[in-house]
Amino acid sequence: MTKLKNYAQGKWIEGDGNETALFNSITGEEIGSASSSGLDFAEMMNYARTKGGPALRKMTFQERGLMLKALALHLIGIKKKFYAMSTHTGATKIDSWIDIEGGIGNLFANASLRRQFNDAPFYVDGEYAPMSKEGTFIGHHIMVPKEGVAVHINAFNFPIWGMLEKIAVNLMAGVPAIVKPATVTSYLTELMVKEIVDSKILPEGSLQLICGSARGIIDHVESQDVVTFTGSASTGKMLKSSPRLIEEAVPFNMEADSLNASILGADAIPGTDEFDLFIKEVQKEMTVKAGQKCTAIRRIIVPESLVEDVQIALGKRLAKTVIGDPSVEGVRMGALAGVEQREDLKEKVGQLAKSQEIVFGSLDDFEVTGADKNKGAFCSPILFLNTDPFHNTDCHNIEAFGPVSTILPYKDLNEAIELANMGKGSLVCSIVTNDDKIATEFVMGAAPMHGRILVLNAACAKESTGHGSPMPMLTHGGPGRAGGGEEMGGKRGIMHYLQRTAIQGHPSMVTKITKQYQYGAEQTEHDKHVFQKYFEEIEIGDTVITRKHTVIEADIVNFANLSGDHFYAHVDETSLDGTIFESRVAHGYWVLSKAAGLFVDGKKGPVLLNYGLDECRFTKPVYPGMTIGVRFTAKEKIAQEKKDENDIKKGIVKFLVDVYDETGETVALATILTMVKFKNQN
Ligand code: NAP
Repeated sequence: MTKLKNYAQGKWIEGDGNETALFNSITGEEIGSASSSGLDFAEMMNYARTKGGPALRKMTFQERGLMLKALALHLIGIKKKFYAMSTHTGATKIDSWIDIEGGIGNLFANASLRRQFNDAPFYVDGEYAPMSKEGTFIGHHIMVPKEGVAVHINAFNFPIWGMLEKIAVNLMAGVPAIVKPATVTSYLTELMVKEIVDSKILPEGSLQLICGSARGIIDHVESQDVVTFTGSASTGKMLKSSPRLIEEAVPFNMEADSLNASILGADAIPGTDEFDLFIKEVQKEMTVKAGQKCTAIRRIIVPESLVEDVQIALGKRLAKTVIGDPSVEGVRMGALAGVEQREDLKEKVGQLAKSQEIVFGSLDDFEVTGADKNKGAFCSPILFLNTDPFHNTDCHNIEAFGPVSTILPYKDLNEAIELANMGKGSLVCSIVTNDDKIATEFVMGAAPMHGRILVLNAACAKESTGHGSPMPMLTHGGPGRAGGGEEMGGKRGIMHYLQRTAIQGHPSMVTKITKQYQYGAEQTEHDKHVFQKYFEEIEIGDTVITRKHTVIEADIVNFANLSGDHFYAHVDETSLDGTIFESRVAHGYWVLSKAAGLFVDGKKGPVLLNYGLDECRFTKPVYPGMTIGVRFTAKEKIAQEKKDENDIKKGIVKFLVDVYDETGETVALATILTMVKFKNQN
């Protein structure tokens, strides 16, 4: 490996001077250098805004999702290249798996989120807001991609996952990114960006890379940009207070140090499955990635009567940690990312040792297999015991970013909660218990200070994703010290890159703008029933006004017998005192079923199947003697991709089912989903 290149304004560029040397963390050998000197950050940002942004914004959420899926498939196909390079970071195979396949998994998960968005470049959020008596004035929220750039400043511990978990989100939203990995492990990020660029799957301008320092980049942000930061709290706070960020009101999402805790429930005594699970989980979290995980367990909170048992059991497991070159058979823990990181860790361990005792491991006295201990960035797992954690509080404040953790005793659950919360805000904590009272009380007490809580017992252990894994379908982030962010992950993450705008106007106008039928908008009737139209022929607002039906008592009796629903209000006229009903009322589900009987066109046509309901409300009681009809209107269309060559080309059409009575007033409102064939199957 020689000089790393930066990818800026469509070109691979070497920095001109000011090189930072990069090292293999196992052998200590110099493997290359990185420099960003000469890069024009302002021009890079401009390029993203004017080249990548417009290209991404033209695409629909469905198209962006498919783009991410294609990228994920491409990268998984060449994953061996990344594994080979990842060994330089000191990672074991499992560590690399988390970084590489975990990162690519994030692309897949975000790609799947496309189904929760519209088939449009923008998103229509939630329900409309009725704002007038006559229904001629409504409001609805749309969310459009920001016209700026996502600047991601990442930590050194996950050079691939760190990038992919973030760009997956902004790319789904239609926003380009500039990625700045931590310099020390940027060679792995560079390799992946090279593969991404060469694949040509992303539109040009949607991804740029800075391998060396990015100091000064924040001075060029503008109001439509978004900055995310993962790293130490000190750097994060310094960047967060940049005058430019404040001036331009740029969102800054920070994920910083986190002194995560794991709690052993008082019920989980030695001999229970939960005790064993606890020991296993803590040992895993201390040693995976050599403890360089923002979610690693730093504080082990246990009932005071079990401290000795935990110390012995954990010590036994930690003693089996073979430290060394991960390519050597049997090695379980590799090196830290670099010598600088090891020195930082030593300093933090030294600070912690002033107020607590090391009960396992040593900074100097440990064996290394298959490598030179003095050249690589190795360290031993270190287990502390702090017998007075309410007074010796360093363990709640100092993060040693490596395989270092502290046992803290508690007397009762309130103390356990208090100790967990003394981390001043964490990304995650876990409690291992099989007692639902303990679990409930702990969750309620600890939730305000934690972004995620894992409740682990034997029943979920086999399938549990573990204490340390943030899952892309859940929000990731935590309050206070952890940075106060929660925008990474799930639909919420994507929304962080969208601007929400309330649109007010006549329902017909809002329908045209949102491309979603709004209640009260113009309805267009045609001779041809909508069920006889192919996907591309259906227009939003196409409506069928059905024939009518006068409700009789037999309808209610028959439905009660058919469904077995003999709720008193449907079957017993004498039971209605004190209820809102004036007489026997029709079942809501009958109203909806009857509506289907009215709006369905039974002839075989392009409609393939009924897919379900999105929402359904029964808004007015329906009594015998009333006459109901349906206004059945095409509300929204979402084209679907073919699963394979033999699949039928089709899409989902959502219809608004507006059941009304003889006064014209709505008695039931539902959205049904149908699957409809395309006429053009190519
Ligand atoms: P760091 O020193 O704060 O650096 C983080 C990133 O900021 C690096 O990319 C660094 O680039 C960059 N940076 C530093 N100063 C900058 C500036 N003035 N302008 C722009 N960028 C700047 O943290 P680290 O040592 O790499 O990471 C370890 C820390 O990250 C730990 O404390 C850990 O808890 C935290 N972490 C948190 C999470 C989370 O999700 N909460 C996840 C992972 C790690 P250079 O490398 O070029 O200096």
